Amino acid sequence: MFESLSDKLSGILGSLTRRGALTENDVNEALREVRRALLEADVALEVVRSFTDTVRSRAVGAEVIKSVSPGQMVVKIVHDALVEMLGKEAEGIDLNAPAPVGILMVGLQGSGKTTTTAKIARRLSDRMKRRVLMASLDTRRPAAMEQLAVLGKQVGVDTLPIVAGQSAVQIARRAMEAARLGGYDVVMLDTAGRVTVDEALMAEAAEVRAATAPHEVLLVADSLTGQDAVNTAKAFDGRLGVTGIVLTRMDGDGRGGAALSMRAVTGKPIKLVGTGEKVDALEEFHPGRVANRILG
Ligand code: GDP
Repeated sequence: MFESLSDKLSGILGSLTRRGALTENDVNEALREVRRALLEADVALEVVRSFTDTVRSRAVGAEVIKSVSPGQMVVKIVHDALVEMLGKEAEGIDLNAPAPVGILMVGLQGSGKTTTTAKIARRLSDRMKRRVLMASLDTRRPAAMEQLAVLGKQVGVDTLPIVAGQSAVQIARRAMEAARLGGYDVVMLDTAGRVTVDEALMAEAAEVRAATAPHEVLLVADSLTGQDAVNTAKAFDGRLGVTGIVLTRMDGDGRGGAALSMRAVTGKPIKLVGTGEKVDALEEFHPGRVANRILG
């Protein structure tokens, strides 16, 4: 993750810190290189611009340049600006609501939505000791329903029995009711995948949202799709009101543009990241740790 950006930034900032004194020009030159490195990592242009403006306004001042170790101060300024861009604090899944707490999973087909639903269910059940019920609302693809049932067995989490012929909203209502009667703490609703941001399926997901009032609406997006992932998040948020993002396939993402732009563009926190195909390959997203990793 972030290998190439990390290499470049360590090079640029390393050469700043090795120099004793810095001029305004040195800082500006380094910032031009930082800007180029961020753009090559596929970070959204508006995010790059606001990031470099922030760093410049903090770093190009007499105080920094005249300090004992100006290079170190610039590195600290870059680090802090990165953390702010990524969202400052880690935000986990919020279960602070009366049971059963609904979590609606949305996203494009192939983004890793169903796998991520099972990964989260496993985490809530194993680590947080919650009783979780999962339900697939993908009425168009029986295979998707089967896939969730298989994953449920694998992670030891119950899935709602499949009843043929029901609509997505009917299944969602049945899941909430079954959870209430069965004493479950959390209900995870895996909505139908769609190949593009498709109005009919958006309307269906909006109807499910209205009928079940989920506490979390998590958008699952594939980090490998870069800025498309960010645009997808914007579109889903505009239509459904997303409470958080799960970025999948971070294990294969050497550039990291989606992860770096997501918060700043959408205003929504990345809550978790997928780091592999296995059901335990899910990690929390800590802006501070990510910034440390990027800056080496
Ligand atoms: P859906 O259509 O959005 O429900 O996608 P699936 O959950 O079926 O996932 C599609 C493929 O992506 C599967 O082969 C998953 O194993 C794989 N996948 C999901 N998340 C990750 C991840 O974080 N890393 C990697 N490498 N593969 C993932």
